[in-house]
Amino acid sequence: MAGEEGEEYLFKIVVIGDSAVGKSNLLSRFARDEFDHNSKATIGVEFQTQVVEIDGKEVKAQVWDTAGQERFRAVTSAYYRGAVGALIVYDISRKTTFESIKRWLDELNTHCDTTVARMLVGNKCDLEDIRDVSMEEGKSLAEEEGLFFIETSALNSTNVNTAFEIVIRDIYNNVSRKTL
Ligand code: GDP
Ligand code: MG
Repeated sequence: MAGEEGEEYLFKIVVIGDSAVGKSNLLSRFARDEFDHNSKATIGVEFQTQVVEIDGKEVKAQVWDTAGQERFRAVTSAYYRGAVGALIVYDISRKTTFESIKRWLDELNTHCDTTVARMLVGNKCDLEDIRDVSMEEGKSLAEEEGLFFIETSALNSTNVNTAFEIVIRDIYNNVSRKTL
């Protein structure tokens, strides 16, 4: 993954979680700084690539979107193949999406090894008035499962880049440790 001169880093990151938690919007906010109010759940796997600079090095994050497969609980193994990072997303205004996190972690664990950098993401933190999952609940699940934790809003951009950057930096640190 890393060469001597002109090093190139390409990290595959998957975004998983129940339907309508905001996965596609987190991705479009990160990759293009856009928010899509008319969510359309297209079928098929898609990814977007975003370049991030870490320690003066160019890192390409290839972020994959389930693109609606999750509605049928049919995320394929190809989706997970080669992933080195994962954002596991729920919606802070819908408890059931938080209750699904364990199932998503199980699925991730069946396809990927434990070295995958994992971030638990409580999205839609702009919906404070109808919050259904407390920040504490999110934090304690993340601690139990050994995940990073952050709350985001794809709608108003809160913490979206930070969520991806923490994961990318963690992957980068693991890779550079290995190649020393
Ligand atoms: P996906 O099915 O997980 O990919 O979810 P989408 O990105 O398609 O979003 C589902 C719905 O939630 C859409 O109506 C979005 O406009 C809305 N949404 C996504 N992110 C946010 C957010 O951060 N805040 C709010 N209020 N709505 C959001
Ligand atoms: Mg989607």
